[in-house]
Amino acid sequence: MCTDCGCGITGNHLADEEHRHTIEVLEDLLHENDAQADHNRAHFDGHGVLALNIMSGPGSGKTSLLEATIKALPAGLRVAVIEGDLETENDAERIRRHGVAAVQITTGMACHLDAHMVHEALHDLPLRDVDILFIENVGNLVCPASFDVGQHANVLLLSVTEGDDKPAKYPVMVRAADHMLISKTDLLPYIEEFSVERARAAAKAIRADLPILELSAKTGRGIDTWIAWLTEAVSAQRAERRRARTYSYAPKAAR
Ligand code: MG
Repeated sequence: MCTDCGCGITGNHLADEEHRHTIEVLEDLLHENDAQADHNRAHFDGHGVLALNIMSGPGSGKTSLLEATIKALPAGLRVAVIEGDLETENDAERIRRHGVAAVQITTGMACHLDAHMVHEALHDLPLRDVDILFIENVGNLVCPASFDVGQHANVLLLSVTEGDDKPAKYPVMVRAADHMLISKTDLLPYIEEFSVERARAAAKAIRADLPILELSAKTGRGIDTWIAWLTEAVSAQRAERRRARTYSYAPKAAR
């Protein structure tokens, strides 16, 4: 599927020499991506923008969360959105209906956003007038975790429709996350198989200090706590910028 993230390499179907060469090419590519990501972060820091990378499987409610967030944001916090999908402008259009600037990146064959794609999109955004930039990554629980796009923190969504064993099955995603949101909790009464406790335990087994919040974009449950976290992160980033440092989210304590 993906042309450049290496997800098609299992190690068995390539000859040793070919395998080594492919790994080298991928390492170069990741190195180049990291350099571009640092450049993006410098853009964000220069404009005082907090950049959050929103990751999850498809259909876990990333865009719905962003819409609920936009509606609940306190006055004075300005946001913009970069949307990543293989095809369509649908999600960017949903965001623009709320009067928020949104740029759609269509990745074609690629199953994640990379730092170059995000950099391209930056030129179409009014960064000077933005406090938080949400980068909604392509719906995929594997590849987005490996590509730094210049964000200050990674937010991972797990919806109750996906199964409570997803954190155990996709540990790379959990390790990369700075904050995990269990979404669509309004559906819990209809999905007996999903246990919030099991999902939490599976994530905590990988990252004991990972903050986990249950929320529903539909009913508004948990949105106030999420907004409080965003507000706090913006303040923390501004404090770091006053010291000429780059903000990096560090959980206060296991919650
Ligand atoms: Mg979406």
